[in-house]
Amino acid sequence: MNFHEYQAKQLFADYGIAVPAGRVARNPEEAVAAAKAIPGTLWVVKAQIHAGGRGKAGGVKLAKSYDEVKQYAAAMLGTRMETYQSAGVALPIDTVLICEGTDIANELYLSVLTDRSSKTITFIASAEGGVEIEKTAHDNPDAIKSLHVNYVQGLQPYQCREMGFSLGLNAKQVGQLTKIMLGLYKLFNDKDLALVELNPLAILKSGDLAVLDGKINSDDNATFRHPDLAAMRDIRQEDETEVLASQHDLNYVTMDGNIGCMVNGAGLAMATMDVISLNGGSPANFLDVGGGATKERVTEAFKLILKSSSVKAIFVNIFGGIVRCDMIAEGIIAAVKEVDVKVPVVVRLEGTNVEKGKELLKNSGLAITAADDINDGAKKVVAAAKG
Ligand code: GDP
Ligand code: MG
Repeated sequence: MNFHEYQAKQLFADYGIAVPAGRVARNPEEAVAAAKAIPGTLWVVKAQIHAGGRGKAGGVKLAKSYDEVKQYAAAMLGTRMETYQSAGVALPIDTVLICEGTDIANELYLSVLTDRSSKTITFIASAEGGVEIEKTAHDNPDAIKSLHVNYVQGLQPYQCREMGFSLGLNAKQVGQLTKIMLGLYKLFNDKDLALVELNPLAILKSGDLAVLDGKINSDDNATFRHPDLAAMRDIRQEDETEVLASQHDLNYVTMDGNIGCMVNGAGLAMATMDVISLNGGSPANFLDVGGGATKERVTEAFKLILKSSSVKAIFVNIFGGIVRCDMIAEGIIAAVKEVDVKVPVVVRLEGTNVEKGKELLKNSGLAITAADDINDGAKKVVAAAKG
């Protein structure tokens, strides 16, 4: 699950990490009221969407008066914003965060994540933070520092100090960084998070560190343990089809190709996408209908796949292990009839009662192309998608 910047900053504050004064607004009048409640002469108006890269897209504006706060808020609210991190989707701006403006001397990067290769919780930091950390990682990998936390000992203050000095911070800043890192480590563990990112963690002209941006991803498998996090979910920022899929217990991820995939089992679904790509095609989605693929689930799956107008052909790749192929075939036939599928459908069935299943598909009178194996199916569906 993803969080808004204002929610991330609230969680930071709950864990003793200082964040600049800020208030959320849903209309321009609220934005002005928010600015009036934050002393100073400079405010930052920030679009709240589930994507970074807002600065470059015009979603972070410095305002020098209440009038400017109102103008920027009015220009953002109610519109949609696409950034280089929003995967080609324009996300709705329903809220803006009005923050105390600060004078930045330098921008650092700091994140915490689960590092699968070292099997540790890992901090990543760089003195070259700011908007494009990906570029720094690519061009100057030595500027990226990492710290693997021993799970038994936990994060030790001396490790934070070491990190601070390696970033070139002075003694006071190192103390501030240590407090931030210890707070983040506790937050990360308490809330079962997958990623926390501060970019930028700024060094202000005053010399103090300031948390200017915050991004959090949590582990969906642990959401049931955290009703407070679940309450922060903003479905409007999520992919509509993926939300619908989760309501039907289907594992669905939207991709940018044109071949719809309906597969049982996550491993087979990944292999299917690979083989489609290998044959020169491009999958429109990842979809695992699960081991117990019933007629109803198959129907829902077809509906989901066909919600995307870019789908030009569908590849159904089912291995009948626990479920029988004849039952799957019945499900496919019923679904194709009910949903009124207009694009070509290629079906590869394998496993228990496969002959019976193929027989049913053949006699159904529907325009379903049978495939002998996964590679044959991929070839046929790629050809069908090309028309
Ligand atoms: P992102 O582009 O979505 O990652 O949004 P950020 O919150 O990181 O803001 C983008 C950039 O705006 C930052 O890297 C800063 O350079 C700038 N910015 C953000 N907050 C402030 C602030 O309080 N004062 C100033 N001067 N610049 C800020
Ligand atoms: Mg940022």
